[in-house]
This record gives sequence, structure tokens and C-alpha cells, in this order.
Amino acid sequence: MIQDFTRIIPKQNYEKWPGKLSLMVKLFNQTEYQIVKKKIRIAAIVELDPNNLQNFLEKVNKDRLIFTPLKKVAISTGFSANHISPEPNQPFLWKGCITRTYKDGQKFKEAYLKNDHRVIGRMLGYPECCIDYFIKNFPIDSCPIWVDLEGKVKGFPENNGMLRYFGPKIVAHLSCSPTCEATKEIGKTWFKLMQEIDNNLADELYKLLASPITWNSYHGVVQIETPYFVGLNSALFVLKKPRIIDWQAQKNQNAKELIIQSTKQKKVKTTKKQLSSKKIVKRIK
Ligand SMILES: [Zn+2]
Repeated sequence: MIQDFTRIIPKQNYEKWPGKLSLMVKLFNQTEYQIVKKKIRIAAIVELDPNNLQNFLEKVNKDRLIFTPLKKVAISTGFSANHISPEPNQPFLWKGCITRTYKDGQKFKEAYLKNDHRVIGRMLGYPECCIDYFIKNFPIDSCPIWVDLEGKVKGFPENNGMLRYFGPKIVAHLSCSPTCEATKEIGKTWFKLMQEIDNNLADELYKLLASPITWNSYHGVVQIETPYFVGLNSALFVLKKPRIIDWQAQKNQNAKELIIQSTKQKKVKTTKKQLSSKKIVKRIK
């Protein structure tokens, strides 16, 4: 499911893209499942429609995996981090994790309930540099896309998380920088698996992440223009002045050259909607 705090407007002649994006969400979820099954990482977070629970659990059993329920989350129009418990009779999803052992499932649950992003990140196979980045920036900006960059930004398609709420992404985590080598490496493994599942769709996804994209965050709205569609998503981070990333992906350049070619953000002129830590905890639960 594409997140419901997003809007997608396809450009003329690209009307099939909203449907394609839904398939890309599915492809990513299938890849993440396989990553755990193939012992590449310890755990994966899943969100399940209660109506699909039976099919999913039968598949999990067959694959000798463990599903550990974490909590029920209301289906609402809020931001993704704003995961609130459902009222009685309100539609909800089951948020849980899959692991290969019961012990890992319990360990993940404990870390999740404590909001221990370090342990969660490690169990999800995220690089340490990206976990540090997330812990530092998430309390300020719940969609922290390379907070110190604006203007011309060059990097690896694998690291491009700008379209994550619309489906297309190669890695599950937010990369600490467009040139994070650890992310690129993880991305290579994930992309190979994606190609095994659906070669054509995986290639289209890669092509999209490698295409010129303009990402513009302003007043709590993020507008992203791609060659095929314009996407909107809400953000909790309120900027007084727009922060615009002009994405120019590079596949075969080394990280050092790319860093020099990217523009550093000069001065952070923001009115961070100062969230108390209590509110943040509430939002990410
Ligand atoms: Zn990193």
C-alpha cells in the first residue's frame, strides 16, 4: 500500500505510474521478506491487513519464520511516524516483525517497545553511520533526507530515499548521505534480489531513482518532481525557506568526487516545529 499521507499526480502519457508505484511497494516488501529468509539480516518490520493475516501466517509457517506482533496501528491519514493505536471498530493494521528465531523476535519486540533505535537498526542490518544519522536527526525531522545538503546533490541511486513514501526505494533505511558506501553495498544485494523477483520492474525502479529529481521541502509539505509524476507528502518539519535538492544520480563515480560536486547547505534557516521528546515518542510508536 502506498502511504496515505501522500498524493501522486502522473504527468501526461505516464498515467500508469500510480499503479506501477503500488507494484514497487509490493516488490520492496517481497524483497525484504526474502532478505530475512535468506539470512542476510535478522529481522524485518511488516504491516499486515488483518484480512490477510491467515495467508501471511501460513506463508511464514511454511518458510519456518517467526511473526511477532508488535502493536495495532490505526489506518489514518496522518504521517507515517504518527502511528496511533486504533479506536474500537476503527480499521487497523498489525505491525509486527519477522525473524528466523523466537529469541530474535522477542529481542526485537523489546527494543521496539523501548524505542531503542540502535538495537532496532542493527537487527534490521542498517549501517552504523546511518543509525547514528537517524538517531541524531529523527527527533528534529521525521523524514530526514540529507539534512545538511541542498542545491545540486550527486550520489548513488541505491542511496536515494526521496521517493520512499511512494514506493520506490532500494534499501529500507534512510542513508546518512547520498554517497554512503555502506548503503550502496547493501543496495547492491537488495537490488539483485529485486531483479530475481521481477527483473523489468526492478530495472524501472532503478532507472527512476537514477533520474533527475527535484525534492522541495517547505512549510511541512514535500513536493517531489520526477520525469513521470509529481509526488506530495506531508512532513512534520516546518521550513521557513524551502530546502531544495536537485538530484543528479551517478552510478559509476567514486564517492569522493561526488561529495565535492554536491552543494552543502549554507545555513539552516528553519523553524523547527519543536517537538518535545514525549511527543516524538508518541509519534513513532
Ligand atoms: Zn551511512
